[in-house]
Amino acid sequence: FQVKPAVNEPIKTYAPGTPEREEVLTSYQSQYKTSVDVPLFIGSEEVRTGDTATMHPPHEHGHSLGTYHKASKKHIETAISSALEAREAWVNLTWEQRAAIFSKAAELIAGPYRAKINAATMLAQSKTIYQAEIDAACELIDFLRFNVQYMTEIYEEQPASTNDAWNRVEYRPLEGFVYAITPFNFTAIAGNLPASAALMGNVVIWKPSDHQVFSANVIMEVFKEAGVPDGVINMVMGDPVMITNTVLDSPDFAGIHFTGSTDVFKHLWKQIGENITTYKTYPRIVGETGGKDFIVAHPTANPKAVATAISRGAFEFQGQKCSAASRVYLPKSTADEILELVKKDIESFNMGSPEDMSNFITAVIHENSFDKLAKYIDQAKKDKDAEIVAGGTYDKSKGYFIDPTIIKTSNPKYTTMETELFGPVVTVYVYEDKDWSDMLKLVDETSIYALTGAVLSGDRYAIDEATKALQNCAGNFYINDKPTGAVVGQQPFGGARASGTNDKAGSKLNLLRWVSPRLIKETF
Ligand code: GLU
Repeated sequence: FQVKPAVNEPIKTYAPGTPEREEVLTSYQSQYKTSVDVPLFIGSEEVRTGDTATMHPPHEHGHSLGTYHKASKKHIETAISSALEAREAWVNLTWEQRAAIFSKAAELIAGPYRAKINAATMLAQSKTIYQAEIDAACELIDFLRFNVQYMTEIYEEQPASTNDAWNRVEYRPLEGFVYAITPFNFTAIAGNLPASAALMGNVVIWKPSDHQVFSANVIMEVFKEAGVPDGVINMVMGDPVMITNTVLDSPDFAGIHFTGSTDVFKHLWKQIGENITTYKTYPRIVGETGGKDFIVAHPTANPKAVATAISRGAFEFQGQKCSAASRVYLPKSTADEILELVKKDIESFNMGSPEDMSNFITAVIHENSFDKLAKYIDQAKKDKDAEIVAGGTYDKSKGYFIDPTIIKTSNPKYTTMETELFGPVVTVYVYEDKDWSDMLKLVDETSIYALTGAVLSGDRYAIDEATKALQNCAGNFYINDKPTGAVVGQQPFGGARASGTNDKAGSKLNLLRWVSPRLIKETF
């Protein structure tokens, strides 16, 4: 199997009149009408337990997309034993065979499954076609392609040998199974977390988010068609506490690959610690968690560029990216001009169903998220140190729609400057131009999270100062750009502090967490 150098999948435009637009709309309409019944995937079985939950489009919560089945403890135990059974053959395949399977999965998504996986992501996660395309199609394809390339680079790296000693490293998978917990907000992450561990020879129990099961089902279809053997990736849904307790009680639990909330990740870490004597090996703990991502503008920054960074960085996909800008620091001299430009921009955004491709904003993921966001917006309307300067309205009668909202505050420690909201609400603090350096210190001090951040400036010295002052505040730091939209192979993604273990998704660093190398020295 010859591994080609990975290339990024080009983003399709879906412009009116293009065949891809027709194809994705046809798929959208047919998936809208057909009621799916998503089983658990355990070993070779598709298990329908009869204990089901219904799936709805967030932009039309009165409509049902079908159901998914929920596991009992017994099912999770069976999934674990099926994974361990599958492991015996899977670890003994050559890496080329695993590379062939996951490369095939990438090409299936690039071709025959592209419309289906994009439409599923639009329907059940309320992404616009562009947001679906850069996620479910391009980013997932890129994760698969680049990880195959990184894997070959890892396997080829060998220690030096001498005339009388042959040294070699076997990059063996972890001894046991990996538990993947994935979020609703990226179909690509949902596919990548189980796939990257499996690519390195591991078997996986995968629990997708309840709000992403619809497109997760398409991912399983792709994995099956690509030839991922039964039991290598087992997909289970149901009570998250029961699933996690059952998985973490197993002596064969060998690692967790997680993307989700900071609180859940910290809880999992504790639970793994409490169980540590149960396990055969120290489990690998890899997680990407929350963010409170910043945009910092210097007085020399181009106001138009700052406005675009805010309106795209904060509001694309309704602000539900871990990387989304949610606190902004503007200099007094240009703040009004920048805010006017952002307001104009967001007034031009259409909001509604992703089926209408002129919409830029659709619904937030579920009622809990809607209610929480509405609460923060209402509070800001009351607070003396806050003011709503754009948006501030919401409506959940048909779907969970929140207007892109800007809160301006005179308090740099205002609640929404510090709390992760995960929605289309951004908070702006205006600083005195002369206080630039103090403001950078303040950003550092208030960065509980450290996922992404952006500085915009026309002054090279200011850029340099910010890059140094904020060195621990963002695992992905953007200069003169928005803080979202990392591309696999170009901007490996992840952060530290309360944002995660910073094992960069789509990198060699990440893949190395899924192997337990054996060094062999043979003396002649
Ligand atoms: N990688 C995505 C980006 O750069 C964010 C991923 C996430 O939300 O977890 O926008």
